[in-house]
Amino acid sequence: MDEHLIALETLGAQARKVRVPRDLEGLDGIVIPGGESTVLDKLARAFNLAEPLAALIREGLPILATCAGLIYLAKHVDNPARGQCTLETLDATVRRNAFGTQRASFDTTVDVGWGSAVFTGVQASFIRAPIVTEVGSAVQAIAVLKSGEVVGVRQDNIIALSFHPEETGDYRIHQAWLNLIKNHAEQVI
Ligand code: GLN
Repeated sequence: MDEHLIALETLGAQARKVRVPRDLEGLDGIVIPGGESTVLDKLARAFNLAEPLAALIREGLPILATCAGLIYLAKHVDNPARGQCTLETLDATVRRNAFGTQRASFDTTVDVGWGSAVFTGVQASFIRAPIVTEVGSAVQAIAVLKSGEVVGVRQDNIIALSFHPEETGDYRIHQAWLNLIKNHAEQVI
């Protein structure tokens, strides 16, 4: 989470942590970070954040989700933990810990692109990362590993990635997401 703050502030944006519903007020976009999707779920429910957050996502607020954040948005999880809930705002199925224990964590480069935004060789950390196993018709794959796994998707206002672009100092994805926020803000005005 702190790395996302650093990335956004390095790029000149103002960023703050969201913990309780009133922290959602006035935001132009939200990053849903990695960590552990079951913990995101438990905390969001405990702080009554899940419903207002899901509502903002459905209303079109720009979202950048990474790793556990991707899982937390997905409509379906192939292998959820017992009792695990998600926001079900991204029409996709994900598999948690898809690279298994042996390759549970690795760094690689991946090409990421949507529309005219195309980034080659983005430095990406995969940390017990999920993959996307199915997508709905409104969801586009935006990052695919050479081995074929879909590790990034876009659905309207949502950019969701299996990996951590914030850990590597390669902030091209954050910059592109800030550009999306700017376009979104101009449309809303
Ligand atoms: N494996 C974690 C989960 O299920 C995700 C790991 C991560 O966010 N780096 O939520």
